[in-house]
Amino acid sequence: MQQLVFATNNRHKLEEVADKVKNRIKLLSLDDIGCNDNIAETGLTFHENASIKSRYIYEKYAINCFGDDSGLEVDALNGEPGIYSARYAGKYNDHQANINKVLDGLKGITNRKARFRTVISLMWYGNEHFFEGTVEGTIRNEQSGTKGFGYDPIFEPDGYNITFAEMSLDEKNRISHRANAVEKLVAFLGNV
Ligand code: IMP
Repeated sequence: MQQLVFATNNRHKLEEVADKVKNRIKLLSLDDIGCNDNIAETGLTFHENASIKSRYIYEKYAINCFGDDSGLEVDALNGEPGIYSARYAGKYNDHQANINKVLDGLKGITNRKARFRTVISLMWYGNEHFFEGTVEGTIRNEQSGTKGFGYDPIFEPDGYNITFAEMSLDEKNRISHRANAVEKLVAFLGNV
């Protein structure tokens, strides 16, 4: 069976993809290949950050690999927090502080349009392929819901009147930016 590394140590992300390719591809995490390196996300775009991860692993271990990068883009904040989504308020993964910063920035602003975006970079036998997924929505005035993570409590996807944090994980995983990008990756892998 072909092997493919997902440049992540997030088990949830890994299992979501592993399940979709299980009969054809053995998916490995960074732990699985003994990689403990801290791969710095120094890019200025989602594409660059995803690429840094996949190319690092491909070059060091000579194994097919993909990396991803995601974030929230708010139109009235000129696309922020964007690639800085995880550390928008300063500290990595301080989700509450990040949410507060977005809500503060949007105080009194009526244009609440936003989207989550995921970019995947796949290094496949030396060639790079990108897959992108988005989900459009709006930013609520106040947070609501306790499921999910990150900006989920303030993001209401178009066509729903609940936030991502009020939605079942199954439903979120059906319509999310990540699911969207992964679907394109899996389709590509199904044809190789
Ligand atoms: P990552 O690249 O998938 O690690 O995502 C970077 C950051 O974007 C996260 O730390 C969150 O702040 C934000 N983010 C990405 N995906 C989601 C999501 O599905 N819900 C809420 N926040 C997200």
